[in-house]
Amino acid sequence: MKELNEQTVLVTGGTQGIGLAISQAFSEKGARVITVGRHRPEGPVAAHHVEADLATQQGCHEVARYIQDVAGGLDVLVNNAGIARFTALEVTDDELLEAQLALNLLAPYRLVRDLLSPLRENGGCVINISSYFARRMLSDRPSSAYSMTKGGLDALTYSLAFELGPEGIRVNGIAPGTVDTPLFRQNLSALSETARNAFEQAVPRLYPLGRLGQPEDVAAVACFLASTQAGWMTGAVIPVDGGLTTH
Ligand code: NAD
Repeated sequence: MKELNEQTVLVTGGTQGIGLAISQAFSEKGARVITVGRHRPEGPVAAHHVEADLATQQGCHEVARYIQDVAGGLDVLVNNAGIARFTALEVTDDELLEAQLALNLLAPYRLVRDLLSPLRENGGCVINISSYFARRMLSDRPSSAYSMTKGGLDALTYSLAFELGPEGIRVNGIAPGTVDTPLFRQNLSALSETARNAFEQAVPRLYPLGRLGQPEDVAAVACFLASTQAGWMTGAVIPVDGGLTTH
């Protein structure tokens, strides 16, 4: 296992929200960070960026090809890119369902599979960004499709930890509570004013620590999971949620 400042880290959706904070935290620790997103970002995060749509098989292959041909190795894969659409079962059409499945679940599966060879070389590490919605639901936020993808992602974390452990590859997950990101703001603005106010008033009751998360709260745990200090951790999905799932 390498120290963080010797690692090459791939962060999907690493250009905004939680992924951006993860990219920045690894960069600050001296890692070489490669981000993936559908569009080229502005500023320093663009230094090593692959433009690809991870909701497609082709996009995942392009990323794997970049890692093999251009980056020349990989130590850490952070499967962070994800979308959440909170729609009731009866109005969740196949397009909404498949968009969430493709990005939240199939892309992590395809990326680990297609990047196995570089991950094998250095005792690699995979970090899957899940969600509390895998096991805890909220009123006003019907989440069947999103919850299904995150529950599936947790099952993938456990099964890959089991399958790849003997090869020295560690696979863990992080299940954040609500984190203040563009995705969260977009979902909040889609609520009615009454529902929005109710959510904001409920935060101190829902979160024992009394506040929503910041992207940096999640990034710190991702760096820990990739570090030598977590060398005997695999198959864990860590709640980083201010205590939300304690009740
Ligand atoms: P965000 O929308 O702010 O950022 C998502 C990132 O994914 C962006 O960089 C975007 O460009 C990228 N992305 C979207 N579609 C893509 C595609 N087809 N191909 C490649 N990249 C694509 O989201 P966020 O709030 O930072 O969430 C990040 C992860 O954390 C997601 O998996 C989400 O489910 C999970 N999560 C978020 C919260 C929250 O409250 N924000 C809570 C629990 C879990």
